[in-house]
Amino acid sequence: MYKVGITGGIGSGKTTACKVFEVLGIPVFYADTVAKEIMCEDVLLVAGIKSAFGNESYFEDGKLNNKHIAGIVFNNEEALAKLNALVHPAVFRAFDAWEETIPANTPYALKEAALLFESGSYKMCDTTILVTAPYEIKLKRVMQRDGVSAEQVKVRMDKQLSDEEKSKMANHFIANDEQQSIIEQVLALHQEFLKSAKEFKN
Ligand code: ATP
Repeated sequence: MYKVGITGGIGSGKTTACKVFEVLGIPVFYADTVAKEIMCEDVLLVAGIKSAFGNESYFEDGKLNNKHIAGIVFNNEEALAKLNALVHPAVFRAFDAWEETIPANTPYALKEAALLFESGSYKMCDTTILVTAPYEIKLKRVMQRDGVSAEQVKVRMDKQLSDEEKSKMANHFIANDEQQSIIEQVLALHQEFLKSAKEFKN
């Protein structure tokens, strides 16, 4: 299956762009949502997290103790790398299993991940899209969507690679700046991917 990775900074609108691809019948794997799910469901991963960060990483009902984990990995790069080294391979496994469930006549599939480049996940994709938007627009969107302060958004933004750095690694771009139509850009990319996917199969 031809695989397209899609990423973008917080509030860039990558999920919004994915929803348009879904309307076109393209299946989307939402890596960040899956990561949250498997941190409670993947037996190997749960065991790994408990062994690395203690049994108190989970409540008695099996739910993740986010506060405990965040307390350890916040401002501790080594601990964060350790957590990522457990979670990322588990997400890759989940993606492989998900790919098996896609109907054979599906032209291509999308993998949406905030850390597509940082996690190395892009290497398993045949091409990539970076969704971009001006800083102030991203800030406004996330404040409105999550009901948080500018400061809280900035802390999250600062932890991600900049658009400039990501753009060096991306193959395609969607400018979600509220000036250019996101739908038209997705439609143009869709045509391109249909062509590439056909060539990929032959
Ligand atoms: P995150 O990394 O935080 O999950 P994201 O990149 O997936 O963010 P979205 O959730 O798609 O971003 O978009 C952020 C918010 O901005 C959402 O509330 C969405 O509805 C809104 N939004 C996205 N694109 C546009 C647009 N072109 N016009 C107006 N609102 C938009």
